[in-house]
Amino acid sequence: MKRFLMLLPFITHLFSARTQPADFAKYPVYTGKDLGITYSPQRTIFKIWAPTAAAAELKLYHNGAGNFPAGSYPMVKQRNGVWMITVYTDQKNKFYNFRVKIKDQWSDEVTDPYVKAVGVNGRRGAVVDLKETNPSGWEKDRSPVLKNPVDAIIYELHVRDASISPGSGIRHKGKFLGLTETGTRNEAGLATGLDHIKELGVTHVHLLPSFDYNSVDESNPDAKFNWGYDPLNYNVPEGSYSTNPYEGAARIREFKQLVQAFHTSGVGVIMDVVYNHTALSEKSNFNQLVPGYYYRSDKKGKFSNATGCGNETASERPMFRKFMLESMLYWVQEYHIDGFRLDLMGVHDIETMNLISRELHKIKPGILLYGEGWTAGASPLPDSLRALKANVTKLDRIAVFSDDIRDGIKGSVFEHADKGFASGKPGMEASIRFGITAACPHPQVDYSKVNYSKAPWALSPAQTVSYCECHDNHVLWDKLGIAAKDATEEERRNMQKLALSVVLTSQGISFLYAGTEFLRSKNGVENSYDSPDSINAINWDLKTTNAGVFSYIKALVSLRKDHPALRLQTAESIQKNIRFYDGLPDGLVVYEINGKAAGDQWAKILVCFNGSGKTATFPPEGQWKIFIQDNSTVRPGTTGEVKTELPLAPYSCSVLYQL
Ligand code: CA
Repeated sequence: MKRFLMLLPFITHLFSARTQPADFAKYPVYTGKDLGITYSPQRTIFKIWAPTAAAAELKLYHNGAGNFPAGSYPMVKQRNGVWMITVYTDQKNKFYNFRVKIKDQWSDEVTDPYVKAVGVNGRRGAVVDLKETNPSGWEKDRSPVLKNPVDAIIYELHVRDASISPGSGIRHKGKFLGLTETGTRNEAGLATGLDHIKELGVTHVHLLPSFDYNSVDESNPDAKFNWGYDPLNYNVPEGSYSTNPYEGAARIREFKQLVQAFHTSGVGVIMDVVYNHTALSEKSNFNQLVPGYYYRSDKKGKFSNATGCGNETASERPMFRKFMLESMLYWVQEYHIDGFRLDLMGVHDIETMNLISRELHKIKPGILLYGEGWTAGASPLPDSLRALKANVTKLDRIAVFSDDIRDGIKGSVFEHADKGFASGKPGMEASIRFGITAACPHPQVDYSKVNYSKAPWALSPAQTVSYCECHDNHVLWDKLGIAAKDATEEERRNMQKLALSVVLTSQGISFLYAGTEFLRSKNGVENSYDSPDSINAINWDLKTTNAGVFSYIKALVSLRKDHPALRLQTAESIQKNIRFYDGLPDGLVVYEINGKAAGDQWAKILVCFNGSGKTATFPPEGQWKIFIQDNSTVRPGTTGEVKTELPLAPYSCSVLYQL
């Protein structure tokens, strides 16, 4: 959400001035799995689905750009709207496009929607032999095992941001290959890039759009930055992240190398996917081949715009449903991808999402699926049919982001001066309890006092992504700088630690934004989707400056991984085994987890948050050993014991336990 990068004055074209609204339900459906190309050295078979076309043409080229076609070939109509042609010479490393004739008019020449390789800027498809794109050892590449979704600790990262800063110590700056390098260090000798992610201990890296998007000129990738939420070719990696965007195979091989490097380090790879809209509307390949079919429209036949980006796709129509499913299956099978984050998932229909989930789980039981359970505008498809947060209980093994805990912790993302629990706003205790229990029903949460949701919305903690920031909106450190501008830097440092403590001890799936573990800043830029590297790059020297914050967050990650009590698997277990302390001073949230019931090495865990600006004291029940005191881990061997009174510093987290 929140990019609105295509808000041009002409966002709502008519699909076609020449046609009446089409009855898409009457269009034939093709169920074969071979749309696009089927390559062998002996022949290449090209197939597209264009049921309203009167003619279709294949254009072959020697290059991915330039105006000299190697030939144009009429395609032959098959059943169910498919057009086909077989070329009986080796087409490897050749480029191709299609155009169709509808009602006596030729469409624009466009790429194959099912294209798997492209030339520079994704303007033409490329014929590659996928077997030749596998890096050495690829057949031995294995995904790390994820037993339960709540075991995941996700680290959201933009490929370019990871390495582009001068001090990253990474050679392939801004490239997929930058994230395959090991032994990279910042000026002070601390690990950066892949080594850093491994050191932090997260289970998954979630990459911002890494499919082929439109906004960055691949022939000059340093000229302009973009997050990449403007899809061009869904089944192809982005060329600006490859060392050679002109050669079809390079970006494929290099993205596989990235996946392989993470897997070797025990980290899963999640792709951020944006099937909810396409960068182009009238002129997109989908729309040129089958006008109107792939998009929802308003009553006047114009593109509807639930995405804020000029169009919204129609996942409920069989051929786009099929496209999404086959696309995600392809990423998992060909690239060994371990999960997907669905951008504006609330645009997609529930039936499609559940079909995708079922099919992906069949081939990869540990696949992780989650998305934004909202839209950026109204959709013509009724709310009840779409994968919104309110409908998460109808979704099969798919989680949604909890904006309740996000804003409960740090304040509203829309009101910049608004504080949250961790920055001292009174009355946020219920929202924090709601987050701790992962939006599952709990008798000790007063839902009338929760910031957004007045009722639990999840039936399982595996349906909830617990987080307090992502690429959208201010990073946490900047948000604290605005909302808590009167606080001292030391206080804000503690607020950041407290905020991330809440995230990493809450039930549900944990999610961190890259660099938050050492106070990443974007210099106050709220929406950095096209800001330069100077704003977006991860400054690895912050790891040196804020070493204390980093070591604390690392300890929290390790705590979470070591303790199944922080990763309870069912709503029943959360209800039964989490008990909040009532009657505490304002700003305190304290709860006990029955670790024994969860098979934890700690029989009981006591988690204490003080979100107020004052030291608070309360009597814990029983005798406890201290693991974290006031945002600092207690060194092994110096474990203190608490019998009667526990003082909690302002903006702090403490974690205690009983064996
Ligand atoms: Ca591109």
